[in-house]
Amino acid sequence: MLTRKELMESSNAFSLAQQQLREAAATFGIEPDMVDILAECKRAVEVSVPITMDDGSVEVFTGYRVIHNNARGPSKGGIRYHPSVTLDSTKALAMWMTWKCALMGLPFGGAKGGVTCDPHVLSLGELERLTRRYTTEIVNEIGPERDIPAPDVGTNPAVMAWIFDTYSMNQGHSVLGVVTGKPLAVGGSLGREEATGHGALFCLQEALGRLDRTVAGSRVAIQGFGNVGSVLARVLVEQGATVVAISDSTGGVYNAEGIDIGAALAQKALGGRLRDFAGGDRISNEELIAIDCDVLAPCALEHVIDETNASAVKATIVLEGANGPTTPEADAILNDRGIVVLPDVLANAGGVVVSYFEWVQGLQEYFWKEEEVHARLQAIVTRAFADTWVLHESHDVSMRYAAYALGVGRVAEASTIRGLYP
Ligand code: NAD
Repeated sequence: MLTRKELMESSNAFSLAQQQLREAAATFGIEPDMVDILAECKRAVEVSVPITMDDGSVEVFTGYRVIHNNARGPSKGGIRYHPSVTLDSTKALAMWMTWKCALMGLPFGGAKGGVTCDPHVLSLGELERLTRRYTTEIVNEIGPERDIPAPDVGTNPAVMAWIFDTYSMNQGHSVLGVVTGKPLAVGGSLGREEATGHGALFCLQEALGRLDRTVAGSRVAIQGFGNVGSVLARVLVEQGATVVAISDSTGGVYNAEGIDIGAALAQKALGGRLRDFAGGDRISNEELIAIDCDVLAPCALEHVIDETNASAVKATIVLEGANGPTTPEADAILNDRGIVVLPDVLANAGGVVVSYFEWVQGLQEYFWKEEEVHARLQAIVTRAFADTWVLHESHDVSMRYAAYALGVGRVAEASTIRGLYP
């Protein structure tokens, strides 16, 4: 059951995304006609997904696939299985993917999809039937040259393997490039699972370097200990940082001397909760936001930093591993306080960059070594960071607006060069 706040947020998300676009465009002088084009989604489909449940009854779910823009190439974006999925929230996420892909210099537009459901209450069989029927309903929308899905909240490599198989069965042959985030055994890329955490580390290294500081010796608090948060914690410790706080949905722990991340990973691998982890003092997720540290990395949910707690943040850098962890009101407060916010479109873009590598490898049916993936990811994130930093300094705008402006500007340029069809 969604809270009223969650319902309001999911239905307002697209207007918020449109508002951010208009603000970035106004700051950087993008033509109003172009802004009107970019403010809408190219195509949005809503599909009905009926499936037979394990008890023999039939349940009908609703699914979406939205393509925001494909001026720079086929569209790319994840598929979310969550009760809060709506057409509006999917449109907003698709628009943000357009800016993220352009910021990273990838030859992709932006898209997003999802099914309104709670995957945790579905059996494996129900999940597979849901995925196969949803894929069949959108089979004419997706494809390696059209639109390429990937995992998002509530979906994983196994779901991507069912999408790959369903699409391939429809085509009569294996189509590796139709979806990314696949298991290694069916054309996944080495380094994909760690990509977002690695990308966030590279982004933080660049930011600290600009501020004459280093990762080694920095004290970091990380909210969320899933794919993004746990990898980030591990690589930060490898680079000499001290991770002073971690949390999952059950709460977290604080240890000023540094948390033993290996032990925490072992506890999670056995199905344990971080709230019960013995390596520090127990804290709530709310306390973690205000903990004494140099870098705060929200790597779990949206809107965890809002106008009620932004003034309590003690970190000098916020590294947005999650999508949308900071509300616009909180963003303004953090900026006024001189806190550097490394925005989601930059800080968590490692995932889509290695998804791009997976697509390239799938099309060529030639797979790269892990070191190659790693080095190319670092080169792309470092370049995107440098471009964003230059704009941030030259125009005296936040890193978020600099990143949006770069993404929006590149898409506008491609659209202008292509011209308005017909
Ligand atoms: P995940 O499901 O692997 O992990 C989520 C973590 O957040 C878990 O540890 C969970 O316990 C914790 N969590 C859930 N509710 C919480 C709460 N109320 N308070 C604190 N922690 C809570 O998900 P993920 O793949 O790590 O994704 C996390 C965020 O990063 C999402 O916003 C996602 O959109 C974004 N993201 C992920 C990737 C990726 O490649 N996985 C890429 C880009 C962005």
